[in-house]
Amino acid sequence: MLYFIIVWGSRGINKTLAIGQFYCPQCEGEEGYKHIRVRNFFTLYFIPIIPMGTLGEYIECQHCQFTYKKAILCYDPDAEREKALAEFEIAITRVMVMVMLADGVIEDSELEVIQRIYLQLTERELSREELGEYIEDLERVNLNDPRERRRLLRKMLGSLNTNGCEMVVKAAFMVAAADGEILQGEQDMLEQIGVTLGIKIARVRQMIGDFDGQPLSLPDASGKKAL
Ligand SMILES: [Zn+2]
Repeated sequence: MLYFIIVWGSRGINKTLAIGQFYCPQCEGEEGYKHIRVRNFFTLYFIPIIPMGTLGEYIECQHCQFTYKKAILCYDPDAEREKALAEFEIAITRVMVMVMLADGVIEDSELEVIQRIYLQLTERELSREELGEYIEDLERVNLNDPRERRRLLRKMLGSLNTNGCEMVVKAAFMVAAADGEILQGEQDMLEQIGVTLGIKIARVRQMIGDFDGQPLSLPDASGKKAL
């Protein structure tokens, strides 16, 4: 009597659907890619016989072999950078205006400090009209409500990296100190900004404690380097 053992199973087979050039974030540059589709095949004696559907598709960098989802082909590093920069500019300006509004008075010296910091960080002028729009916008929010402030800060600062966060705290601090003293409302605001950004409250208090009434120097790093 003779026994046959039928060996069957399934396995994924790769097929290259396309090749081309793309921006590989891993290599930080233009590299060749392969667009690969993996299909599941029914195998008999390890030979693929019948296709049983697609398991997935991915993009593989031909330099570092890192794999990505297909959406990576639409990734434009310049556009992403521009977007991040714009978000940073808006976030830092809004935070500065929030700090300015914390003591309930809009002083000329504070407006000037905001404009100076903005210029330093972005190399662009922020006109009084533009600044006025930010102020109008934030005056609609009840900034005295800590929960409302936390919600607003989280929304604004969620996407910033470490350097961006530090820049925001420094800028906020400078606005608070622009009139020569840091009032309680401003201190509360600074502490909340720090906490939202993951900076220890003791560190923020130390900064406030160290403040001796002298105008602070502007942050030396440019906002562009922060991103
Ligand atoms: Zn690569």
